[in-house]
Formats: sequence, structure tokens, C-alpha cells
Amino acid sequence: MTTADLAGQTSTGAKLLAAARTVIPGGVNSATRLVGPPYAIATAAGAYVTDADGRRYLDYHAAFGAILLGHAAPEVDDVVRAAIGGLDLVGWGVTEPEVELARLVTETIPSAEQMISAMSGSEAVVQAIRLSRTVTGRPLIVKFQGGFHGWHDAVARNVISAPDRAYGNDPLSRGILPEALDSTLIAEFNDLDSVRALYAAHPDRIAAVIMEPIPHNVGALVPDQEFVEGLRALTAEQGSLLIFDEVITGFRHALGGYQQVCGVMPDLTTFGKAMGNGYPIAGLAGPRHLMEHFSSAGGDVLLAGTFNGNPVSSAAAIATIRYLRDHPDFYQRTHALGDRMRAGLTAACAELGIEGTAAGFGGVFALYFAAAPIRGYRDLMRNADAAYVAFHRRMTDRGFLMLPLALKRNHISAAHTEEDVDRTLEAACDVLRTIR
Ligand code: PLP
Repeated sequence: MTTADLAGQTSTGAKLLAAARTVIPGGVNSATRLVGPPYAIATAAGAYVTDADGRRYLDYHAAFGAILLGHAAPEVDDVVRAAIGGLDLVGWGVTEPEVELARLVTETIPSAEQMISAMSGSEAVVQAIRLSRTVTGRPLIVKFQGGFHGWHDAVARNVISAPDRAYGNDPLSRGILPEALDSTLIAEFNDLDSVRALYAAHPDRIAAVIMEPIPHNVGALVPDQEFVEGLRALTAEQGSLLIFDEVITGFRHALGGYQQVCGVMPDLTTFGKAMGNGYPIAGLAGPRHLMEHFSSAGGDVLLAGTFNGNPVSSAAAIATIRYLRDHPDFYQRTHALGDRMRAGLTAACAELGIEGTAAGFGGVFALYFAAAPIRGYRDLMRNADAAYVAFHRRMTDRGFLMLPLALKRNHISAAHTEEDVDRTLEAACDVLRTIR
């Protein structure tokens, strides 16, 4: 949305955005917050957000997946309110909430013996990569085309790439040293041979393979079990680490993350987003012999961060994880609603003769305007973006807030109901009819 486009608009969102643009570059604090019309969300509760003009939206965006129990979930917010006023932040010693959080995480994430806390997923990934390079003494990292692991230099490349850039040099930003980009190699998801080829081309040079176990940053490429098991065996055989970036899958798909679902244990796990139900908190976990490389334990990898272990964010994460631990039916419910949504969307496309497939896992769903099967990024390059843009726009007009990019996913939280899903499917059928 250009500034000229905003000029004639009278919605509070458009006005606020115009004002924002005088003091914030582009008006928003993260570039993908402004794909589509300008919304000024004023309040959020349960499964709904309400804009400044009083319009309510059923929210599947979920703050890029940071909301898991619903907006303003009392189970979390009450604990946060109690934490505020008790202990804000100290810069000396240890606090009880950070210890309790680490204890809960190491109890719930199967491969975790110790964890460090961070304020964002990007920071957790930076630490995972530094740690991998340190323990292996090797420089290179492998990531998959389509995977997103944050905004920093080591991984800011090859996410939603146009066909002529995919697998090639496709940085997300200027200002990154070519050496940093070149130190990250690109493989194809669900294709073990593509990883083998990189090991053959760079023997004894690869420190780690990092993967979203389900690459939700391009919707949902569900991994073949043999692929994950093969990757585990290959990385171990080659002396590299396997990093699961569970920033989206962690706590969302199972209490123990996708590693619990697939039964394959990574060396290191990063998580963030949903773990604090909207409050800023992230972490990196792994076995003690790796984690004790951090300088806090006298090791050689710097661990620093003014806000690390923030007591209020830690309280939010403790409350979220305890809720999930004490309500295992959360997973049954969200998985059943996700199945219902995916089946309904796929059936609607089939009925209307539209080439469309709903993919996903658990409470996450993505609608691809492409024929199945979709196993890797190569399949995603068949996705019809224009159809998705029309679908997204019309669904939003009807009050359903979804992620605006074609290759992104949507999230069902504890606050969504079967009735919400059915209402969404009804609207989706109407919208699909118009874009047939
Ligand atoms: N890893 C994954 C899988 C993500 O989806 C994201 C963010 O979308 C990140 C890391 C970075 O997390 P943050 O935005 O908290 O820095």
C-alpha cells in the first residue's frame, strides 16, 4: 500500500498508518505486517481481534503463530499481571522464574537437558549456529529452500524465492556480507540426496543442518519420516549437528514439539513464538555437553543479553507450558479442528474444480492453489499466487484474518471452536466460487 493510495482512505487504520509513516519507516515494525490493507488492530481477545473502527475478525494469523491459547488468555495474563510489580528485571545473579522455565522446558522437550533463554527466535538461532561452529570447528551451515530461521546474516536467504532465484543466491536483505551468505548452503526439503550432495561437495566443512521440522514459513511441507530419520543418521555420520528450529512447531504441535511427534532427536532445538502466548521469549536447548560451551558455564561461546531470562516473559512461558501440560486435550481439539479445516477446504476446491490443496499439521493449515502432492519447494513453485491474493483479500473482507502471503500458514488456537471452523469453511466456499 503506497502513501498515495492511503491519501483518499478514511478508515482509522489508513489514518494511523499515514501518521505512522512519518515516524516509523513504512509505518510498521516488521515488513510483512503490511501486505494487504492497512489494519489498526485495537483489541484482541480469544479467537478474535477488533480494529479501531470496531470491525471484528476471526484471527488465524495469530501474530505469526505466537498466540496459541487465544488472545489475552486469562491463564497467562493473570500470571503476567501478578508477575508485574513483583520483579521486573535484575542484572545480577539468578531469578526463580528463569530456573522454573528451564526446568519445565527440559522436562517437556525430549532432547533438552539444558536451555538458555532469549527474547526472540532469531537470537536463539544465532546461538545455535555459533555453538555448532564452535563444537565442530567447521564453518558451513545447511538450510532448506523455503525455511526461515530469523532475520540475521547466517540464515537470511532463500525463503519464498521466485523460481529463477530458488536454490541460487537469494538474500532477504542487502547489507549482508557475501561471505556470510556463502557460508549457508541450500538443500531441498524431503530430498536427502540434495543434502548428501552438499556433504560430497564440502567434505568436513558443514557444522550443522538447520531445519524447521515442518517448514511452516512456506505453509506446511510435512516431512517424510524416512527423510527426518535419514537426516539424523547422515548428520551424525558426517560429524555435523542437526538443529530443529521449532520456533513455530514447538509447543504448538505437541508438548514436546515435532521431535516428540516424529521420535527423531536433534542435537539442538530452538523455540519461541507460542511458548509465551504473545509475550517475548525464546530459547535454545540441547544436551549438557553442548550447552556447557556457553560462557556462563566457563565455555567459549558468548552468552550475553540484557533481557535474557526476563522474569515477566518467563512467567508467561511458564503459565503457557503449564497450561499445555495440564490440558492434553488441547492437542486433540486443535488437531481435530485442523483436520476439519483441511478436509473442508480440499473438498471445496475439488467440488468447484479448482486446483487447490489444503496442507498442514495439527492446528495449522495452508491453502495452496496447486495440485497435490506438495512435498518440497519445487512443488510449491506451481502455486498460483494471484489466486491466493484474491482468496486472502476476500476472506479478510468477510472478517477472517489470515496470513497475507500465498506460502504462509494459518493457526488454530485453544480459543477457536468447531463453529468458527464451519463458519470459515462456509465463507471460503463462497469466496472460492468467485475465484474459480
Ligand atoms: N525460526 C522460525 C521457524 C520462525 O518462523 C521465525 C520467525 O518467524 C524465527 C525463527 C525468528 O523468530 P523471531 O521473529 O522471534 O526472531
